[in-house]
Amino acid sequence: MNRPSIRVRLTAWYSLLLAVAMVAFAVMEIAMTRRSIYETVDEQLADDAKYVQQLLTAPGVQPGSGRRQSSAELQPGSLLFQVADDTGGMVYSSPAMEGLRVPSSVPESGTFETLQIHNSPLRVYSTQVVDRGRTYRLQVAYDLDDFVEATNHYESLMWIGIPLLLAGAALAGYWLSGLALAPVNAMTQAAREIHPLNLTARVASPGTHDELDALAATLNAMLQRIEGAFDRIRLFTVNASHELRTPVAIVRSRAEIALRRPRTELDYRAALQDILSESEHISSLLEELMLLARQDVGSETLNFSRLDLVAVANEVCREGQILAESRHLGWSQNLPGGAAWVEGNRDGLRRLFLILIDNAVKYTSEPGCVHVGVLAQNGRVRIDIRDTGIGISPVDLPNIFERFYRSQAARSDGYVGAGLGLAIGQWIARAHGAEITVETEAGTGTCFQVSFPLVI
Ligand code: ADP
Repeated sequence: MNRPSIRVRLTAWYSLLLAVAMVAFAVMEIAMTRRSIYETVDEQLADDAKYVQQLLTAPGVQPGSGRRQSSAELQPGSLLFQVADDTGGMVYSSPAMEGLRVPSSVPESGTFETLQIHNSPLRVYSTQVVDRGRTYRLQVAYDLDDFVEATNHYESLMWIGIPLLLAGAALAGYWLSGLALAPVNAMTQAAREIHPLNLTARVASPGTHDELDALAATLNAMLQRIEGAFDRIRLFTVNASHELRTPVAIVRSRAEIALRRPRTELDYRAALQDILSESEHISSLLEELMLLARQDVGSETLNFSRLDLVAVANEVCREGQILAESRHLGWSQNLPGGAAWVEGNRDGLRRLFLILIDNAVKYTSEPGCVHVGVLAQNGRVRIDIRDTGIGISPVDLPNIFERFYRSQAARSDGYVGAGLGLAIGQWIARAHGAEITVETEAGTGTCFQVSFPLVI
């Protein structure tokens, strides 16, 4: 089942809370008004009773027994009161009280009660008066008709006014929440229209300098990242297919040419040799591409163990020396006699060092030389791979770790490569908590340095 929209839910909650608050307020207000009326009336009745009592007990006034008095002192205006003797016999009743026939009660001390007399509420205060040895029952009363009518009127006004107010407030709330949510709807609409082919589009910021602005900024930052990731994937695909096209074309044309007419065994061997070397190139390229793709999705992980970096450098130097000597380059190395323990992955470190040595050899020509040094100091161990090759220009230097990036010199001078080695090398170094730094001068040479934290 579809949930109602935020706008409807907001309005419903707001109206419900407002209704509860208004009803609670109305109920309290009516109860307090009633209470305050009763308190005022009761105070008045107590005062009236005192006044009548003073009149009754004044010297010279004889309430008499069994008959009604009409002395001037005992007729104070329209006061409602009556006096009965201790047997209930009426002694005196004020003119306004006479027709009401209020039963005379026998109160312990002063009591207040509300009686319904001729369908009208009458507040009655009953008390005892002792005068010259005789006990009388005094009752003063107050007609509540006007008050009750006024409170009833007020109550009905409330019960009509509250639903009307609530309806108005709900409509206003619905309208206001619509206004507040309008930018969200606009952003939803804008986000809906963004697809892989127009990833440059952005969500318009409402310019309200509030949470909605922050939401738009967050969405746009996310789109920026997605666009960047899409661009990288696109570029990766374009570059990868570009790099693969040449060796695949070479393999194909070499095979086609060899098969064009019958050839000697020597010719076939030569053709197959070329095809083999290009295939090796393709498979190493594919391996690098797959490695980078695995790094991207996070499935390429390195298992670490405590290992001797000097031992790994020694192994790699043996291969590097053979490589350098095959290119008629000088080779020197300076490795410490003892071990330098690091937390690392043997295959990963071998690959990293070989990438750097391979580049040093590749970008150095006769009679240059390559040097590898390992130095452990201040809790770190650093490997330096130095060459006297073509160097890297300041224009190329910031980009050499990017995938498929190759300097103009590397391209134009026909150095073989796809521009993936340093990207892979940097990933391995970072996985080891190490950074690669480069010192270089175009035409003079380059030194790559990688520094690892030592472990005990
Ligand atoms: P590749 O060597 O396959 O081109 P890399 O990622 O290993 O790719 O290197 C990227 C670029 O960095 C190279 O194209 C080259 O321009 C530059 N580079 C790397 N190592 C050296 C070096 N030792 N001397 C000169 N330039 C280098």
